[in-house]
Amino acid sequence: METLLLVVQIILAFVGAMTAGLWLALIIWTFRDMRSRSRDVFAQILAALLVAVLFLPGMVIYLVLRPKETLAEAYERSLEEEALLQGIEETLVCPGCAMRVQADFVVCPACHTKLKKSCQGCGRALNMRWSICPYCATPALGGVPVQAAAQPTQAAPAVSGGFFRRAQRAPEPPAETPPSPSVEQPEQAEV
Ligand SMILES: [Zn+2]
Ligand SMILES: [Zn+2]
Repeated sequence: METLLLVVQIILAFVGAMTAGLWLALIIWTFRDMRSRSRDVFAQILAALLVAVLFLPGMVIYLVLRPKETLAEAYERSLEEEALLQGIEETLVCPGCAMRVQADFVVCPACHTKLKKSCQGCGRALNMRWSICPYCATPALGGVPVQAAAQPTQAAPAVSGGFFRRAQRAPEPPAETPPSPSVEQPEQAEV
C-alpha cells in the first residue's frame, strides 16, 4: 500500500513538473512571439501575463488576437510594395498617346499633353499631384506654370498670323485643354 502511494506521488510530481515546465515554456514563447510582432513593450508583457494567468485558454486567446504579421514580414512587404511602385514609375507612358516618356519630361513631345508642372521657385519639374515643391518648398499652383510653358507654342504662330488667323485660333484653346484632365485622371487612379 505504501509503495502504491509512493508511485502515485512520483507520477503526480512528474506530471506537475511537466505542467510547470510547459507553462513556463509557453510564457517565454508568447513573450518572444509577441516581441517579433510588436515593438510595444506593454503588449509584450500583457501577452505573457495572459498566458501566465490563464495558461492554455490564455494561449488560445493569444493565438486568436495576436498581430498577423511579424515585424520582419511587415518590413519585407513594405519593401516589395516600394519596389512595385518604383517599377510602375520607371515605365512611364504618356496618358494622351501611350508613347514612352522620360520621368523628367514636362510635356509629351508627341501630343503636347502636360505631364509635369514646373516649379515657380526653382523651375524643376514637379509631379502633377504635388502641391508643394520638394526641392525649394515653394507651394505649387495647379497647372499654372504649364500653361506658361504651353503659351509660346500658341503665341508664336499668333505673331506671324494676322487678325484672321487669331480669329481662327480662338477655338483652339478648348481643344487643347481636354488632354489636361486626362493627364490627371490616370495619375489619380494609380493612387
Ligand atoms: Zn503623348
Ligand atoms: Zn522648387
